[in-house]
Amino acid sequence: MKPEKYLKNYINGQLVPPISGQSITLYNPAIGEVYAYAPDSTQKDVNEAVEAAEAAFPKWSKIGIKTRFRLMMRLADIIEQYLEEFAQAETTDTGKPITLSRTIDIPRSHSNLRFFATAIAHFSSEAHQMENQAINYTLRQPIGVVGCISPWNLPLYLFTWKIAPALAAGNCVVAKPSEITPMTAFLLSKACIEAGIPPGVLNIIHGYGPIAGQAIIEHPKVKAISFTGGTNTGRKIAAIAAPMFKKLSLELGGKNPNIIFADCDFEEMMATTLNSSFANQGQICLCGSRIFVEEPLYERFKAEFVKRTRMLKVGDPTSAITNLGAVVSDLHREKILSYVELAKKEGGKVLCGGEIAEVGGKNAKGYFLKPTIIEGLAHDCRTNQEEIFGPVVTIMPFKTEEEVLMYANSVEYGLSTTIWTNHISRANRMAEQIHAGVVWVNCWLLRDLRTPFGGMKSSGVGREGGLEALRFFTEAKNVCVKYM
Ligand code: NDP
Repeated sequence: MKPEKYLKNYINGQLVPPISGQSITLYNPAIGEVYAYAPDSTQKDVNEAVEAAEAAFPKWSKIGIKTRFRLMMRLADIIEQYLEEFAQAETTDTGKPITLSRTIDIPRSHSNLRFFATAIAHFSSEAHQMENQAINYTLRQPIGVVGCISPWNLPLYLFTWKIAPALAAGNCVVAKPSEITPMTAFLLSKACIEAGIPPGVLNIIHGYGPIAGQAIIEHPKVKAISFTGGTNTGRKIAAIAAPMFKKLSLELGGKNPNIIFADCDFEEMMATTLNSSFANQGQICLCGSRIFVEEPLYERFKAEFVKRTRMLKVGDPTSAITNLGAVVSDLHREKILSYVELAKKEGGKVLCGGEIAEVGGKNAKGYFLKPTIIEGLAHDCRTNQEEIFGPVVTIMPFKTEEEVLMYANSVEYGLSTTIWTNHISRANRMAEQIHAGVVWVNCWLLRDLRTPFGGMKSSGVGREGGLEALRFFTEAKNVCVKYM
């Protein structure tokens, strides 16, 4: 299960080069150098993948839950068996700390497969009786060929989060990982071959979003699209897919509030807030990038948060003691830094960070940034309204619940929120009024895979997770049988 220098597409059970013969250069963000090449696929490769998926569908959809379960569990076992190889590949590709790849990204990937392989066996549908007249029962049937497109921040974790329910429900899949971080998806192709996944059931195409990704969205035989990525890309995808009446699940960007009341458990809140601000270099859609702190606690919070942030170790992601690795690309680092400049222009004061982190040795050319805290900004300035997706947070004081609710809900996004308080009624009251699909009280990123996951407003359409995902990847068909 070794990464290779020249990645290949996985079509109809075979590893194949792209038809164009062209490739995309892959950089190791922690080193700042080229380390591999991915296929630059086009519509032609996508057409072959869709053909293979279409041919595999009749058998896969009828093969039976037990067989699908057995094959998906075998695939999960292989990922777990090669956890270290997958984790090293994820860290090389993304720049994220190896501890994160080992303890979160890869374990969650095999959990996704196991969870949905099992969940399908518990999936039931409804019956509605019409007294003395008829019985209605609802069939939930696989859709056919579906497309799954995922981003670069949690590569294998989010890729499997989509593929697993699609396959478990009996669909065949054409999937595309981000062209920036395709290595673990390539390793997944190899694992599929080893697990004996039938040819055509899962096809993995590498390439640029607007070319290969868009070809998947536009293909008339791809009946449903599950997409995670930026809000602007989601908008483009919806514009193409909606007139074709495709089923669409969109998990998009966020600008999540972290609301801290003075009565919270300070230690627990502080440790978790460091994580929810800077885990994966702040490149998690669920990170709490706007931190609102109740006035009586504000100065104490600020002093401690800045002190502990300065102590975070930025550096070589392959070292087990690194807290923040590299951000995903040079371009992305430039974008994050441009937001720091914008924040200054908007009147913000940088309390720590705000600049490139100089990491020497083999990492001297890597894309590192210091974790950054900014204060003094209005809730409605651009820095507090737009998704930065890096290790940058703002802190702001508030006086009342009403005030902080207004601040929290003032953005176009509605993905997640964290609330810190020991006042249970307040927590419930706030949770009810917050515009977000996911609310955490006194915790962050505590995930039960059975719960609905997703955002409202510009953070997306639809929900993933548990039964929601299985419902998305099936068509409901009602059968009404009249009593004779
Ligand atoms: P992008 O929207 O740029 O890309 C996401 C995926 O879509 C990539 O595979 C990309 O390919 C592909 N893509 C790009 N353009 C098109 C197109 N026209 N048609 C089809 N596919 C396309 O997002 P990022 O990869 O930059 O990821 C970061 C974003 O993802 C952030 O906004 C973040 O909030 C969001 N996100 C949301 C999550 C959620 O659950 N709500 C979870 C994680 C991230 P390529 O990269 O090859 O161009």
